[in-house]
Amino acid sequence: RRAEFALLRDVPAITRDGTRITLLTNAGLAVDLESLDDTGSEGIGLFRTEFQFMVSEELPRLEAQTLLYRRVLDAAGDRPVTFRTLDIGGDKVLPYLDAEREENPALGRRAIRLGLDRPSLLRLQLRALLHAAAGRELRVMFPMIATVEEFRAAREMVDVECDWARRRGRTLPSMLRVGAMIEAPSLLFHLDALLPLTDFVSVGTNDLLQYMYAADRTNPLVSDRYDPLSPPALRALQEIQARCAETGTPVSVCGELAGRPLEAFALITLGFTRLSAPAGGVGPVKRMVLSVDLPAARRGMTNLLGSSAGSVRNEVESLARKLNV
Ligand code: PEP
Ligand code: MG
Repeated sequence: RRAEFALLRDVPAITRDGTRITLLTNAGLAVDLESLDDTGSEGIGLFRTEFQFMVSEELPRLEAQTLLYRRVLDAAGDRPVTFRTLDIGGDKVLPYLDAEREENPALGRRAIRLGLDRPSLLRLQLRALLHAAAGRELRVMFPMIATVEEFRAAREMVDVECDWARRRGRTLPSMLRVGAMIEAPSLLFHLDALLPLTDFVSVGTNDLLQYMYAADRTNPLVSDRYDPLSPPALRALQEIQARCAETGTPVSVCGELAGRPLEAFALITLGFTRLSAPAGGVGPVKRMVLSVDLPAARRGMTNLLGSSAGSVRNEVESLARKLNV
């Protein structure tokens, strides 16, 4: 299998009907960069910046952050990198940051909520990102955006930091793209307001599904009670894809789903063309992509979205088998 995936490394991911699918990887530490070339990944669709903070004994200084981001950009070369700003709080506790104890950490002051409440933390990180990407393309996205206001406020902080750098005569990134992660179900009903403010969005299906199904993703008693291949989940994803297509907003999926061939089959059938997966998922997903005839798959999938079943996994599997995927 491994050898087979290695042969696919330089083969572009194009479906049988000619649709180009972009396969990116998720990363978070410098060691992840080593696999970038082996997998044939087309870039980093999600760089989890909090990993550096989690393995550190103290708050990483501006210089340490800048150094890591520069290394990531260097390793990626011409390939795009999307940096996700700090996603800490909740269950990702940093011993050196005095956080209040929360009854429900997953619903607590995590990610962008912490970033907006303690702006010095987020501003420092944005400063490091802007500095590391001087003269290059910088893509930044904010985790756990639940309201349009939060995105607006976070984006304003990017502007403030750009002004700060400009006043000091620093070279800015040659191109700056600011995006939101879609992880809170509230956004599903406010995409019309959100999308015009973003340069791109990325769907974090791990969190989106845990919040949609009110089932803690880290709790084995409940995390398997629902199936991502279910009509509600697939319809939510379809809605996001459709709204993004309307506004011409680039959209990717960066949750674990994107790295599993059957789930990724469902995603591309719904119209997603950018998937960011753990490194090990790129080969298997690419092999799937090469075998798919999207128009035929789409006809089959449309019926499944109307099903009253809690899971359509078996049906998606049969569809894939019928189409020789
Ligand atoms: C997600 O929630 O799907 C996601 C990609 O972010 P993380 O897994 O880091 O929460
Ligand atoms: Mg998430």
